[in-house]
Amino acid sequence: MYKVGIGYDVHQLVEGRKLYLGGVEIAHTHGLSGHSDADVLIHAISDALLGALGEPDIGHFFPNTDPRWKDVRSTLLLQEIAGMFRARGARIVNVDSSLIIEEPKIAPHIKAMKQEIANALNVNPQVIGVKATTNEKVGFVGRKEGIAAMAVVSVKFADSSAHG
Ligand code: MG
Repeated sequence: MYKVGIGYDVHQLVEGRKLYLGGVEIAHTHGLSGHSDADVLIHAISDALLGALGEPDIGHFFPNTDPRWKDVRSTLLLQEIAGMFRARGARIVNVDSSLIIEEPKIAPHIKAMKQEIANALNVNPQVIGVKATTNEKVGFVGRKEGIAAMAVVSVKFADSSAHG
């Protein structure tokens, strides 16, 4: 049987932090604040994957009070979640995601992001979707105060474990 999952995340843009999106370090004047590397795209994808498994959100598994996850690259969290999929006999059919970001331009980095996400999940990059849109200068994204991301996933379960 198949299940879907949805994820959404926001992080604040601040000075003095590196910007990581989709596992890729991107040269920019600001980075995202957070306990880990604050990779908002990977966090949205992580929540979508956990949702498809019927599990709680990433804050449950990787709490920001735990020093183990301090400044950790979020691709590592994805690898942990990929392990949960293996344990359940669940296969990722596809991931689609959107960044809502005013700047910098994301198009030059999308191929590398797909590859990083695919590597962490051990899937073909062709099943990973990454898109980007601006917020047309409106709201907190438009004022460059933060970056948002959303994601959906489709997951195929091999056996009746999906029902329990
Ligand atoms: Mg987050």
